[in-house]
Amino acid sequence: MQLLLVEDDHALANALLQALQKQGYVANAVGTGEAAIYIISTDPPDIVILDLGLPDIDGISVLKRIRKKHAGLPVLILTARAQLDDKIIGLDSGADDYLPKPFEMSELFARLRVLERRLSTSDTAEISVGHVTLDVNSNSVSVSGEALELSRREFMLLKALLENAGRILTRSALENQLYNWDEEVSSNALEVHIHHLRKKLGSDFIKTVRGIGYQVKKP
Ligand code: CA
Repeated sequence: MQLLLVEDDHALANALLQALQKQGYVANAVGTGEAAIYIISTDPPDIVILDLGLPDIDGISVLKRIRKKHAGLPVLILTARAQLDDKIIGLDSGADDYLPKPFEMSELFARLRVLERRLSTSDTAEISVGHVTLDVNSNSVSVSGEALELSRREFMLLKALLENAGRILTRSALENQLYNWDEEVSSNALEVHIHHLRKKLGSDFIKTVRGIGYQVKKP
């Protein structure tokens, strides 16, 4: 799950990034509306967390511009303007949810889980493909009912593959799900994670699509 945080308050942005990354999200931040619009048009994230008070373009205008091209992209508005009017304007402009500052991290995580559930094709917290079941709420994986220990990145990789079962995911799409912009990624890091997952899930669960990426097939 790749998040884009649009927040011009650097201290808050850094604190949020750290908390989100600790929670297992891949999260990146930009500090202006223009940067947000650019990133969303070139490398769209799964969820956007958008501050309304930005230095260049008002967050509501950013939201309206995002909506023109990305109707289904979940946007959670974050703002110090806790007045009801702003909430209504935000929701009318196409925001999916609204969180007034100050807020508790646990509340932000809860709202994000709701948006995540809306994104996934099933309406339960469990994604099952064949003998493999992944629970988004408890961050657990089981194979034929047996609990499996996975590293954080293995979990995120498997989740991306299961959520897109039947589709081929390119190497770069998978790397975007695993690493933040500022992380150094060695060229074979993805292969290493895939290798570990195959050892745990069986060698033929994740298929290699030569020259493109990887795929989990629907049974
Ligand atoms: Ca701000």
